[in-house]
Amino acid sequence: MKIAVDLHIHSALSPCADDDMTPNNIVNMAMLKKLDAISVTDHNSCDNVESILRVADSKLIVVPGMEVQTREEVHLLCYFTDIDRLWDFGELIRSKLPDITNVPEIFGNQLIMDQKDRIIGQKKELLISSVDLSLEEILDEVNKREGALVPAHIDRPSHSVISQLGFMPESLRHGLVEISRHDNQYTSMFPAEKVLYSSDAHYLWEILERVSFLEVDRLSIPDLICTLARKNDK
Ligand SMILES: [Zn+2]
Ligand SMILES: [Zn+2]
Repeated sequence: MKIAVDLHIHSALSPCADDDMTPNNIVNMAMLKKLDAISVTDHNSCDNVESILRVADSKLIVVPGMEVQTREEVHLLCYFTDIDRLWDFGELIRSKLPDITNVPEIFGNQLIMDQKDRIIGQKKELLISSVDLSLEEILDEVNKREGALVPAHIDRPSHSVISQLGFMPESLRHGLVEISRHDNQYTSMFPAEKVLYSSDAHYLWEILERVSFLEVDRLSIPDLICTLARKNDK
């Protein structure tokens, strides 16, 4: 079956995202847009995912995920079948973050929220830094936890695997790639089934309509992970 997705959305935990990106606002907007599945992928952190899963409950599929910035300053989307694996991965990422404190006035708030959108904390360490792990090491850690890794916004001039390395590493060559615009050269460079279009929404109104689709056997997180992790040699 074909399902409508937006698998790259930032919550108010990401300093660059709007403070209105609360668990309830994100889930309600995704439901208004009639999406089948979303993922909230904050920079190097996942503290709001559990609240978002609670809000979504059985109304909407939320794939536990995170956007990691590697040592090479490449952004990678990492998806997991359950919150425990994401937390476990999140602990590793937290331990590899540089010791830099966020300055909210400069970089923005890093808000942790409960399922009623109440602020229950602020993340102290600056989340928009590179972690001390290489792209290949992140890939290893995601594979160890049976997750799926998708290189983010490969059509962008910064923080993409192409902009940072200048080429697509062999290890990522046969998987899915994410693009941030629908109508560009990358759509024609890759077979349609290998391109995932996402919003990278930092504001509510940026969350996608039903314009990006994935083919899955069933509408479930394991099936989605299976499709995202696909390594076909076509
Ligand atoms: Zn990014
Ligand atoms: Zn992003």
